[in-house]
Parts: sequence; structure tokens; C-alpha cells
Amino acid sequence: MDMSRRGFIAAAGASVGGDIAHAQEHGHQHQAVPSDPALRTKALESLLVEKGLVDPKALDALIDTFEHKVGPRNGARVVARAWVDPAYKQRLMTNASGAIAELGYSGLQGEHMLVIENTPTVHNLVVCTLCSCYPWPILGLPPVWYKSAPYRSRSVIDPRGVLREFGLELPEDTEVRVSDSTAEVRYLVLPERPAGTEKMTEEELAALVTRDAMIGVAKVAPPSAGRV
Ligand code: FE
Repeated sequence: MDMSRRGFIAAAGASVGGDIAHAQEHGHQHQAVPSDPALRTKALESLLVEKGLVDPKALDALIDTFEHKVGPRNGARVVARAWVDPAYKQRLMTNASGAIAELGYSGLQGEHMLVIENTPTVHNLVVCTLCSCYPWPILGLPPVWYKSAPYRSRSVIDPRGVLREFGLELPEDTEVRVSDSTAEVRYLVLPERPAGTEKMTEEELAALVTRDAMIGVAKVAPPSAGRV
């Protein structure tokens, strides 16, 4: 079976059209019928390609970027480097886009980065009240809740309440700062390095850093937490 994205969707589309027998004849392993959005995407893509409006190679390059090249692991590496290398952290705080590019992460939606640091007395939370602005090169695509109207509105009205719902209860004397992303500026929260990580390598530290901690709806848990 053609396991490429397009091949899978085409085969699944054929099965929806009642052509399962054909597929079985050829020994295809059919998966469950794809979701409605997947089918719509296929229809749209087919039309655009057929009319010569998009180049399938360009689409493949875009998909490959989001599947393999951008995502929160990139941001985690930035955070871990900042934790272990004070000179890097300094560059990150003063010229975030440049320091992030040093690790090879740059591109669309990451051109104008600002890093905001969490400390024992300040907690940062990032939102885009207008839509869903998000630093793609280092965090990938935003989670669904980030784009939701309740998160976008309540983060500025009641940030502590929102954080509580994410399971993060902050002490009363911690200052909560909410940063509103725009098309011009994207934020990365530099979380606090948890206690008990003094002997960990940069790579091990990066593995602790979660997407949510870099948006500011969570802290980075110490290595023992949550482990059996
Ligand atoms: Fe936005």
C-alpha cells in the first residue's frame, strides 16, 4: 500500500466511495475511514493541484516541515541550553530570534521572538487574544485550547483561574504576567529549572521541558515527579 500521505488519503477516499472490494483485491490494508476534515482536505488539495494553483511538491515540503522539523522539542532544546549556558541565556534574553537561530531554528512565525523568564516571584503566561499567534519554529502548531475563545479571553481576565484549571496553583505573592502575542511578536516562556537537576546533561534537561511550560500554563516538573 502506498503509505504516503496522499496515497493514504486517496485509498481511504476510494473506500468511502464504496470501492473497498477493489482495494481488497489488491491486498490493501485499509484503515478506518478518515475524519470529515481529512476528506475535505483531500478534496480541496485535489482541486488546487488539478487547477495548477498549488505545486504538490510545495505542499509536501510544508507538511514535512510540520511533521519533522518544527515542534516543541526545538523549544525544549533552547530552554535547556539557556539553563546550562549563562552566556547563551544572556543572548537569548537580549536577542531571542538570533539566539534561537544559533540552534538552527528559524522561519515563518519565529522572526520576532521575545523570551520571558519565570522566576520564583514572577510567572509568565502567553496568549494570543486576537487569534492564535504562536512561535512555530520552536513550538510547532498551537494546541487546540490555545486557539479557543475561552482561553483567549479568560487568560487576561482571570489568569490565576485559568492556571488552576491547568493544575497550576501559584502562591498569592507570585506575580502573574500575561503576554499577548501578535503578528509582530511571539513569546517563549523560559521556565524555572527545577530543583534536583544539577547533575543532568543538557539533553536530559531538554527531555523535562514540556510545551505547556513554554506557554506558561505549567511548570517544569522535577525529574522525580510523576515517575514510578
Ligand atoms: Fe494571533
